[in-house]
Amino acid sequence: MHPDLARLEQQFNPSVLTRVKDSLLDRFKVEVRMKRDDRLHPVISGNKWRKLKFILNHALSMGSDTIISMGGAYSNHLHALAFTGKMLGINTVAYVRGEKPKHFNPTLSDLEHWGMKLRFVSRSEYRLLRKYKNWNDLPGLKSGEYWLPEGGMSQLALTGVRQLVEEIDREYDVICVPCGTGTTLTGIVETAPANTAAIGFAALKDQGFLQRDVESLLQEKIKKDRCRWSINSDYHFGGFAKTNDDLLTFIESFENITHIPLEPVYTGKMMFGLYDLIQQNCFAPGQRIIAVHTGGLQGNRGFAL
Ligand SMILES: *Cc1c(COP(=O)(O)O)cnc(C)c1O
Repeated sequence: MHPDLARLEQQFNPSVLTRVKDSLLDRFKVEVRMKRDDRLHPVISGNKWRKLKFILNHALSMGSDTIISMGGAYSNHLHALAFTGKMLGINTVAYVRGEKPKHFNPTLSDLEHWGMKLRFVSRSEYRLLRKYKNWNDLPGLKSGEYWLPEGGMSQLALTGVRQLVEEIDREYDVICVPCGTGTTLTGIVETAPANTAAIGFAALKDQGFLQRDVESLLQEKIKKDRCRWSINSDYHFGGFAKTNDDLLTFIESFENITHIPLEPVYTGKMMFGLYDLIQQNCFAPGQRIIAVHTGGLQGNRGFAL
């Protein structure tokens, strides 16, 4: 690990396993624990740190001084990257989807405040940028610049996720995680014991590509006995960052009962889905379930919760 990254990581907190205490779970005789990656760092979103860590290590080891990436106006990825860049003393640049807004939302304000250079691009330009999948793919890249594709979908990102799974020091039957690009799910499927099942809860609609992306990332690896895995697309609530009263009410009541904060884009949808499946008796009595709290709580500022 590059010494600058190792030093930064010393400021992180452990990602503990928290038992979810709720009489509903007792009634259905299942045990649920959350792997609290939301607790890793007060600013850097847990899931994004897992994915960024070894990518940044690669960039730093090659002497890069500028990371260029892309994301939406509420992006947890850009938020984590901008802050990490500031802490490491490297420059960050972001292509942001959509027109430059008159008033910056809290996420964009943070990015600007932390010195990230923002380049607002149209939706079609943004789509074109998705073509560039490798660190040196972006046309016009200068020496010292490192291209980080959307969502950090790469083998290096999987290495960080693998650490998350290896930290879990209890036996379990099922492990759940929210899915955007599916990179985190892939890292979990790769690492979870063969006698477990992994469920990814899709946060976006029309996820035909999600299944394929996870499969193709997995295929780059030598096959071993893998856990069973599936993607559940029943709880996206109409699409990315879409919500409704049922979801917001669930999040509020979950927080009141368990004192674990959620957000409506990823972790709220996963827990809503998990609770719904539990109530449909999809899990046998005695099942031990781990739900990965991927973080993302900074995004809550974009919602009137
Ligand atoms: C980005 C993000 C995800 C999605 O991760 P993928 O690896 O893209 O599937 C899940 N949860 C949170 C909080 C995120 O910020």
